[in-house]
Amino acid sequence: MEYTDVKTLFAEPKHPYTVGLLQSIPVLGRGQRDQKLNAISGVVPSLLNLPSGCLFSDRCPDVFADCRTIEPHVYQVGKNHTARCLKYA
Ligand code: SF4
Repeated sequence: MEYTDVKTLFAEPKHPYTVGLLQSIPVLGRGQRDQKLNAISGVVPSLLNLPSGCLFSDRCPDVFADCRTIEPHVYQVGKNHTARCLKYA
């Protein structure tokens, strides 16, 4: 989904799935104890019934029409930083 060095990934995530994963990490000292962690909605698609277009389209908060029909390639989003997302096509 996304490739870069660790520092850049944590500082400037580009792919919506990466952003969702990073938002779901608990941070000690931040928030209330009873506060729920963010979660990526939906479920992982069945390998027997994969969606057309982007495999993340049913769960992505940034989905748009092309995501349902076009399979994303890997796009350059920065120096030594790539993401498989149509937002960067
Ligand atoms: S291609 Fe579309 S659905 Fe897939 S991650 Fe990017 S914005 Fe979301």
